[in-house]
Amino acid sequence: MGGEEPDGVFLGIDLGGSQLKAARFSPEGAREAAENTASQASGDAEDIFSALYAHAAALIGGSHLLGIGVGVAGLIDSGSGRILNSPNIPALSGFPLRDRVREAFGGEIPVLMMNDANAAALGEYFAGAGKSCSSMFLLTLGTGIGGGFVIDGNLWTGAAGVGAEAGHMCVRADGPLCRCGARGCLEACVSGWALMRDADQIAKRDPESAIAGMSPRTPLALAELATAGDRQARTLWENAGAMLGTGIANLMNLLNPDCIVLTGGLGEAGALLLKPARRAWESQAFKETRASTSVKPGVLGEWAGVRGAIQPFLGK
Ligand SMILES: [Zn+2]
Repeated sequence: MGGEEPDGVFLGIDLGGSQLKAARFSPEGAREAAENTASQASGDAEDIFSALYAHAAALIGGSHLLGIGVGVAGLIDSGSGRILNSPNIPALSGFPLRDRVREAFGGEIPVLMMNDANAAALGEYFAGAGKSCSSMFLLTLGTGIGGGFVIDGNLWTGAAGVGAEAGHMCVRADGPLCRCGARGCLEACVSGWALMRDADQIAKRDPESAIAGMSPRTPLALAELATAGDRQARTLWENAGAMLGTGIANLMNLLNPDCIVLTGGLGEAGALLLKPARRAWESQAFKETRASTSVKPGVLGEWAGVRGAIQPFLGK
């Protein structure tokens, strides 16, 4: 490459159930420009793809493109680049996203695709809260619950590439039905959708309650209500926190990673969620595992996934 040619850029994309995030990075992985928009998850696959392409092309502009990394909410077949199953963006199930992105950018650019929680895990491990850890488990606490496990710089994705799905480990065998069809998954007890399901039930049962009067009915509004002292709202967070703590205790005892990093919107509830969670993991995890596994918040926030999606291009 001649001295006057530009070094080029990487593009990271994070396609989630509610938001489409994209960012342009330097060859060293520094974020140069970023965009965040609604992901139009209720539209058809072509609409979602068109929006993704338009934002990506605008960010790249005239720069020389070195590679594209895409994190997507759902189970990914890393061999074919197809989305096997995406409960939060149903239209994308079966969609050959990797090939379509590659074709749209001329067919020559390397395109990598991975699950969005795995992408966020790589982002926090290499550029965020996990920088000093050799093993790190990331839990994304949002509308759903995602998991990603990094050991010595490598993602652990299991025999079929769909492992580390911590949101679907069972924390209560007789618990509520999950979107995956099983009962008592962590996600069915703690996630944004699970909290809203419980809030809706209270609103129906008790139309005079403060929860019934909540508008809009969101986890953030539920957290404000709890902070203001509403007993029903506090109980919902107490129960969710206790289940989260059980999930964290399981991860501590099973893997004893250097750190467990918590990221995602539910983290904004702070002590409402973390106090009961800590109480649970301190009573359920071995003393030795909880003493050696730290639990900490992510530092990249909503940009962990776009940063992690390009990490494989940068190496360890
Ligand atoms: Zn499940």
